Amino acid sequence: LFIVLEGMDGSGKTSQLEHIKHYLNEQGIDFLSTREPGGISVSEQIREVILNVDNDMSGLTECLLYASARREHLIQKVIPALNDGRIVICDRYVMSSLAYQGYGRELGKAVLDINQLAIDVDGQQYWADMNIYIDVKPEVGLERIMSKSGEREVNRLDLETLEFHHRVHKGYMELSEQHAEQFVMINGEQDEHSVFGDIKQVLDQLIQA
Ligand code: C5P
Ligand code: MG
Repeated sequence: LFIVLEGMDGSGKTSQLEHIKHYLNEQGIDFLSTREPGGISVSEQIREVILNVDNDMSGLTECLLYASARREHLIQKVIPALNDGRIVICDRYVMSSLAYQGYGRELGKAVLDINQLAIDVDGQQYWADMNIYIDVKPEVGLERIMSKSGEREVNRLDLETLEFHHRVHKGYMELSEQHAEQFVMINGEQDEHSVFGDIKQVLDQLIQA
């Protein structure tokens, strides 16, 4: 079972992932929790490059770097865990690229093509079984990032324009319809506890199935 947590910056993904880990541990469920871009050494190094370049990077270069980080992480970490029968929970995956690079950077279908190649391992495409998407309006996400900038890592991409974040948000909305069967939308503007309550329901259903 391959579960992905998706959402805009400031949607609360990171805090919710902590709740999820706590809950699954309590239930005695064997799982792997990991993140993108990153999760393994080479992919964390690629993450550093993407987040810290001091000049503007071409959107396509960015997309290819995310895809490279993704493929290696998938091969080295995700697939072995799935093959061991473990549940994998990943902070971001393909939908992030489709939303951020496809819509945000307006690269469109190239992003899907690149990612289909990147997640194809031994003739099989590894899509997430479920994307749990935490929805907040772009303004709300940005506001949270600004107000918490003392306590969290803020990178150059968090500080993209509001228009960029609006395109990304629109992307997630369209993706939630195009991939409706692998998408569940959670209202991320509720208090943290209620958001987790909704996520917990989804998790329980997925694990029982
Ligand atoms: O989710 P996390 O905060 O780890 O993401 C790191 C940064 O990378 C964020 O600013 C996010 O907006 C950006 N990102 C991106 N395109 C992706 C994935 C993440 O611009 N495909
Ligand atoms: Mg972030």
